[in-house]
Amino acid sequence: MKLITKRTLIIGLPDQWGKEQGAGIIPDRLRLLNLETVTAKEVIDVLEDALKEEKEQSGGKKYTAHRTTLEEWLRVPDCLECNQSKEAVVELGELPYYDSATVTLCVTCLKEALALSGVWCDGNWSDTWGPF
Ligand SMILES: [Zn+2]
Repeated sequence: MKLITKRTLIIGLPDQWGKEQGAGIIPDRLRLLNLETVTAKEVIDVLEDALKEEKEQSGGKKYTAHRTTLEEWLRVPDCLECNQSKEAVVELGELPYYDSATVTLCVTCLKEALALSGVWCDGNWSDTWGPF
């Protein structure tokens, strides 16, 4: 279970990149940024420049990615209950992978689920469990 926001995606990107693409100038460049304050646009700019540099250094063997692909890596997944794009979602279940049992829910839908359970009502936690 984890919280996903634009900031958590930015902060996790150097390690994520290293795991998926291997070490190199890209995770190193990302770590030079202040990941607590840098904007998504600044991160994308750094990625774009670093990818072009890697491609040039490899004699064209390394790939570059379209800006929209890079932006997608920093996109908070939609809530799977209300299908809306939100600032934050909570990821539940298996680690996301093709065909994994992973669910992302926004705070509004999480509150509705808690209200349904009877432990959350009008912004307050109930002392007793359930509407039973
Ligand atoms: Zn939702």
